[in-house]
Amino acid sequence: MAYPEIRIDLNKIETNTRTTVERCHQQGIQVAGVTKLFGGNPEIATAYVAGGVDLLADSRIDNLKRLSGFSLPKMLLRIPMISEAATVVQTADMVLISEPETAKALSNQAKALDKSIQLILMVDVGDLREGLYAMKEIQEAASMMDGLPGVQLTGIGTNLTCYGGVRPSRKNLTQLVNIKTELEKLLKRHLPVLSGGNGGTLSLLETGEIPVEINQLRLGSSLAMGIGLNDEPIPGLQQDAFLLLTEIVELRRKPSIPEGIIGLDAFGNRPVFEDRGNRMRAICALGRQDIHPDEICPLQKGIQILGASSDHLILDVEDCSDLLQIGSYLTFLPTYGGCLSLMTSPYVKKIIIT
Ligand SMILES: *Cc1c(COP(=O)(O)O)cnc(C)c1O
Repeated sequence: MAYPEIRIDLNKIETNTRTTVERCHQQGIQVAGVTKLFGGNPEIATAYVAGGVDLLADSRIDNLKRLSGFSLPKMLLRIPMISEAATVVQTADMVLISEPETAKALSNQAKALDKSIQLILMVDVGDLREGLYAMKEIQEAASMMDGLPGVQLTGIGTNLTCYGGVRPSRKNLTQLVNIKTELEKLLKRHLPVLSGGNGGTLSLLETGEIPVEINQLRLGSSLAMGIGLNDEPIPGLQQDAFLLLTEIVELRRKPSIPEGIIGLDAFGNRPVFEDRGNRMRAICALGRQDIHPDEICPLQKGIQILGASSDHLILDVEDCSDLLQIGSYLTFLPTYGGCLSLMTSPYVKKIIIT
């Protein structure tokens, strides 16, 4: 055993995926399984594939490259950099895009490489991340992209919740449907894909509020961690497919208030303390270089996170009735953001259980 470790349960991910894919397929929605949470790790992606996703999607081209062994179509989620246009054309089958200049670059590379790539034009319906905003801009971009060789404008899409925190609603999704209808009139052809957002949109699935025209969702946190809008648990899904295990390296009773003149901590903050007398404390071999302490929640009862420096996690374990020892490990549930850091830290061992 080597800690810290993130333990990844493929059965839970597969079950979450199967449940979600069934719910989506019932409403005519295909699922792009988003792998960025685990850096496009192909072994973990097998759980998505076994659970029935229709495409694999990632925001980074390096992650998509790792998925080349799967026959499912690959989608690039982050609007591409012109500097990566050649790699994008070589690696992805479908790409979310907003800038006509970038579409031109992809077209040139596609011609040069004798390949073809599908474009989903991103429209901003209010969250203010990627996507064109004004109808005139959207129409101009769509007409221009429609005429480019080597690329096919396959549909439009939007993203919500991620930057502005704007919730998906019947209203903003209907706006997306209307834009697609307008573009189809303009281009005089059908646009087959209407990509209605990320896991946040699943909240509208149960209530039947997703317009029928929406036929694709891009899902990551729901499949992998069973969470949706506002990171809240989605009923019927499991939230503990990813667990953090970290080892206790010191276990001592100490005062709860530091002694001496208090200045700034290692991160420039002035810490505040509550005097609770002498308390049993544990230090675990984990720090901010791996994860921010706000992004984990202890699974054992009676454990409180006091703080963390770069390499030490400090816990109050006075009220924990489990037998704790030097060298034993404690288990934590990471948030989405926390999981992203843990999966990205080279210091955290990734242990896949099947
Ligand atoms: C990350 C991402 C998703 C997936 O988001 P989840 O909240 O994990 O479902 C969807 N679309 C885009 C463009 C993304 O970057």
